[in-house]
Amino acid sequence: MPEAKSSAEVRTASARARSMPRSAIREIMALAAGRPEVIHLEVGEPDASTPEHIIEGAYAAARAGWTKYGPNAGLPPLRKLIAGHASARWGVPVASDQVVVTTGAIGALYTAIATVVDAGDEILIPDPGWPNYESIAHLLNAKAVRFDLPPENGFLPDPDDIASKITAKTKAILFNTPGNPTGAVFPRETVARLADIARSRGVYLISDEIYEDIVFDRQHVSAGSFGIGDRAFVISGFSKTYAMTGWRLGWLICPPELASVATGLQEPLTSCASTIAQKAGEVALSGPPDCITRFRDTYQRRRDILVDIFGNTGMLPMAPAGAFYALLDISRTGLKSLDFAKRLLIEHNVACVPGITFGPSCDRFVRVAFTIGDDPLREGLQRLRNFIESFARRP
Ligand code: PLP
Repeated sequence: MPEAKSSAEVRTASARARSMPRSAIREIMALAAGRPEVIHLEVGEPDASTPEHIIEGAYAAARAGWTKYGPNAGLPPLRKLIAGHASARWGVPVASDQVVVTTGAIGALYTAIATVVDAGDEILIPDPGWPNYESIAHLLNAKAVRFDLPPENGFLPDPDDIASKITAKTKAILFNTPGNPTGAVFPRETVARLADIARSRGVYLISDEIYEDIVFDRQHVSAGSFGIGDRAFVISGFSKTYAMTGWRLGWLICPPELASVATGLQEPLTSCASTIAQKAGEVALSGPPDCITRFRDTYQRRRDILVDIFGNTGMLPMAPAGAFYALLDISRTGLKSLDFAKRLLIEHNVACVPGITFGPSCDRFVRVAFTIGDDPLREGLQRLRNFIESFARRP
């Protein structure tokens, strides 16, 4: 196999594929790959294995013959469980027909955006925000327009600022709470204001709530709780809550009149999510919730380690209230985030994600994830802090 693509191969790839924005994290992962001693603060997935009873459920399902294609929208018992889960949390009725089971939450995000945008349409996305939002918009020939999540406002948006960015071409406001990379959890009034704006301006909300179960000091508030079922797409899944990233299982709850369109999109996308994974998902949702609490407590303990190390340094603009990430301010180093991340890796064997990955506003930050054991976490964070402080001591 050739190691690099020839220029002829690159030329024959479609312009859209070639021009897809590439994440700076790739460079860091490539650099980290050859270094066995690296402390990994860049990895955005739970370190725990999937709970045993869920794995057993998948075994049993496979043995019982759940090894075939399933319906585009997902297996009916799983859709029913997801609808029940959402309506219990939101206090709003949700019908199974509104649920589309997808290949990871990324499949749900792609589906939601593809359901509402045409080429040239605009979609509002957060800055900083998960880079795949922009990539999906790009692949669909839509325009991603950023709104700010200012650090001095606890990485929360100003709903009036979002409203001011709506044009005749805007189809949706996409947001993410609890947030990656910020760790911010939107308070009720923020989500309520966004719901009002969607209603009054006739745009959709696409709410990425994949970290809904990883919340420490606040209550997660879903966009689904405001009775705007005809305007809201709500995304969640199994990856983070149940440590099931590799099973590729997520879901989308759609406005009722768009559910059949979203379902139809599954056929050319992935046809259906893995049937075995869906049976495991049924076990997860109907099983005991103690694994969720256990995982959350672990992240909270690690969040507290992070706050211990960075709390009074001026480098942590906000203690994360949810998810398992924090942004650390590196501005006193004078380095751009990619250069900082490369040097931290090469000189101190610690990997983190350059903030620029998440949007133009974020180049003075790096993201760390608290998804490793307490001791290496403490060591990695301390090295990171020492590295930043070493700049301040320089003449
Ligand atoms: N949304 C956000 C904000 C994420 O951070 C991730 C994964 O890291 C996803 C969605 C995708 O989740 P999944 O692995 O279920 O596709």
